[in-house]
Amino acid sequence: MLGLMQDWPLLIHRVIDYAATQHAKREVVSRSVEGPIHRTDYASIRLRSLKLAQRLERDGIRFGDRVATLAWNTWRHLESWYGITGIGAIYHTVNPRLFEDQIVFIINHAADRILLLDLTFVPLVEKLASRLPTIERFVILTDAAHMPQTSLKNAVAYEDYINEADGDFRWASFDENTAAGMCYTSGTTGDPKGVLYSHRSNLLHAMMAVAPDYFCLSAMDRVMPVVPLFHANSWSLAFSAPMVGAALVMPGPKLDGASVHSLLEDEGVTMSAAVPTVWLGLLQFMQTSGKKLSTLKHVGIGGSACPRIITESFETQYGVRVTHAWGMTELSPLGSFCAIKPETAALEGKALYDLKQKQGYAPFSVEMKIADDSGRSLPRDGKTFGRLMVKGPSVSKGYYGIDAAILDEEGFFDTGDVATIDENGYMLITDRSKDVIKSGGEWISSIELENLAVGHPDVAEAAVIGIAHPKWDERPLLVIITKPDRALTKDEILAFMSGKIAKWWMPDDVVFVDEIPHTATGKILKTALREQFRDYRLPTA
Ligand code: ADP
Repeated sequence: MLGLMQDWPLLIHRVIDYAATQHAKREVVSRSVEGPIHRTDYASIRLRSLKLAQRLERDGIRFGDRVATLAWNTWRHLESWYGITGIGAIYHTVNPRLFEDQIVFIINHAADRILLLDLTFVPLVEKLASRLPTIERFVILTDAAHMPQTSLKNAVAYEDYINEADGDFRWASFDENTAAGMCYTSGTTGDPKGVLYSHRSNLLHAMMAVAPDYFCLSAMDRVMPVVPLFHANSWSLAFSAPMVGAALVMPGPKLDGASVHSLLEDEGVTMSAAVPTVWLGLLQFMQTSGKKLSTLKHVGIGGSACPRIITESFETQYGVRVTHAWGMTELSPLGSFCAIKPETAALEGKALYDLKQKQGYAPFSVEMKIADDSGRSLPRDGKTFGRLMVKGPSVSKGYYGIDAAILDEEGFFDTGDVATIDENGYMLITDRSKDVIKSGGEWISSIELENLAVGHPDVAEAAVIGIAHPKWDERPLLVIITKPDRALTKDEILAFMSGKIAKWWMPDDVVFVDEIPHTATGKILKTALREQFRDYRLPTA
């Protein structure tokens, strides 16, 4: 027997319809790419996204077609998502931090038909255009006054483009499992792989994220997604903020400490989300300038492990609650949040910040387990490491255009992360499965050693890799960049780490370098580092 409730598919444009009805005048403020602060509201965003939908349709964009965006977080980028998905087409966010060949690869792989791009990226795209045969038209996200001279095919200023439509248009209606968005993983190994979100997965994911223990959003909030729309759906905020009527403050291209601080203060931001590097920039800016935060109450931090110093500074110096989150492109991207439960509510001081180092527990709609190499579940004791496996309605079951199974028999996706889960359900990422150091049959977490080393005041960046060892199989090598004008020695850093980790985890050697290789998205590129130190011999070998 079926229930007698209405069939109301979870479609993305319902979010902007809702926001425009119940929160019509709520602001969407952006630092525009052209420079000035731009103000609009959800009612206008909806009208303009309808115009874009209508205009795209006139250009022959149909159900299932891909429309790429190469853009910062602004109102135009936001409304383009609603406009594109409102006719059943698919937004494909291209990450400008990818290498040029990767950008060409993913646009061709997705066979995008139109590319919407910010002024910033015109020179880059002009350079690549001859290698982008599927793109029929380039729409520059600006107005006629700022439109550059360009060789790009059928180029038009976005404002002119959408003004050719009047917005007298109805959203298309279709199944909620229809594809809505596409984002390629950054690809530390091999070619980037396309993750294909559906309307349903994006909406369920956003509905999960707004809850009090997670991003905790309400109509009283002013939310600043510093995390880019091209970085895995800006962690749901393009959907979850309008879904509850929270105002949005979009930072555009300027993500340095001073620019982030001025927007936070000028626009009365209450909640924001970004990767640790952005917050380090902000905290350093506040330290040197003596500036404070007067409205910010809560930050979400993830994308890579959040250094303890960030959590402690925000919470103890500035009174800002930190929610450490973990996720990945394949998870839409949120998979866990480090929120307090009654079981952990009494923790304070060091014990509290030990907990907050963890990536947290899975919310409803994410099933999580750790497993050994044969897929057997491992105990939740906070000590046993295993492959982190997840399952749920906003977790990928395959990659676009790749015909390979990616789930185990029970439907779990192997995240490629290695983690522990404790008795209260809190998960701690201890490594990537490729990066964990296998010493004498046991695993050493490279991330834990790196976090410890960067806690030294003279260390700017640290990376740990396994080096072949005749007796132990692999032993850790610590690679360090020191801060300018600091003279740190091997003995000093080892003395600093000693006693804080098991003795057998101590690095066998330390090398000082000027540069550590990074992926296009700013993560340490361990494959390149391992290659660089391939012939390195440890003094203990
Ligand atoms: P992103 O878009 O966040 O870079 P990717 O899919 O490229 O997503 O990378 C996801 C990976 O980033 C995760 O598998 C994990 O290794 C790492 N990661 C994300 N958040 C955290 C976190 N809070 N702590 C540690 N590692 C994290």
